[in-house]
Amino acid sequence: MILYNNQFIEREDAWIDIEDRGYQFGDGVYEVIRVYHGQCFAMDEHLDRLKRSAREIKLEWPVSRKELEENIRQLIQKNQLNNGIVYLQITRGPAKRTHQFPMQAKSVLTAYTSEMDRPHNNLQNGINTILADDIRWLRCDIKSLNLLGNVLAKEEAHHQQCYEAILHRQDIVTEGSSSNVFIVRNGKLYTHPANHFILNGITRRYVIRYAKEAKIEVIEKAVPIEEMMQADEVFITSTTSEISPVVKVDHNVIGEGRPGAVTTLLQKKFEEEISQLASR
Ligand code: PLP
Repeated sequence: MILYNNQFIEREDAWIDIEDRGYQFGDGVYEVIRVYHGQCFAMDEHLDRLKRSAREIKLEWPVSRKELEENIRQLIQKNQLNNGIVYLQITRGPAKRTHQFPMQAKSVLTAYTSEMDRPHNNLQNGINTILADDIRWLRCDIKSLNLLGNVLAKEEAHHQQCYEAILHRQDIVTEGSSSNVFIVRNGKLYTHPANHFILNGITRRYVIRYAKEAKIEVIEKAVPIEEMMQADEVFITSTTSEISPVVKVDHNVIGEGRPGAVTTLLQKKFEEEISQLASR
């Protein structure tokens, strides 16, 4: 089953207009919410961010928040999803093609679930990454459907048998193609400030909180590539990648080439948080 505005319908019966602005312009916003043990992880934070993204592109919010929360829970139940994701998007809807907002367009919300295992191998052994030029627009804080810059970077990483592309603007590391980037140097944690150059990841926010709880100093500042290459530890965070240690950037080995102590500590805190969902 999928969710179409407020209706549950079979995926085969779902119908998208060829002039839907999401389809033609990428004119819409989205979220990916993780489901562990049949429960949404951080649903509130994801829906808050979706609301913010919608507001930033002046997109009409199509359903009530309460109804949406309930529908997401029902969708998970109807699809008997235990571990996986809910993908949720809102487009500006179908209208005759003009760049400016059409008068009569009505937003369309769709959501579906997908089973997904946790990335155990990456979490334990770390990932290889490449560096890629951040060619995206200047509102990366909006989780918009326009993902070509991200797609091209991820494809290049994949082509080079790597898991993620770490993006940079000139010599500054911004974020991953679908993740945030953290650097550990001399026991301190560094990550790009949450401004227009990055998406303020939900996992990023949890990691910052865990670090502060563990009395690890968190410094939100722009980090040059050179500093990342010489870091003791690097890791990426995202809803699907969780806290994945980075052991290589291009051909440069990070630290000792295996998950470091700070990364492992933060992973442990995240693990504890997830396991609480099982007891709900
Ligand atoms: N940055 C980008 C560009 C992303 O696409 C994502 C997630 O898909 C993230 C960061 C991480 O965000 P979150 O932790 O909310 O999944």
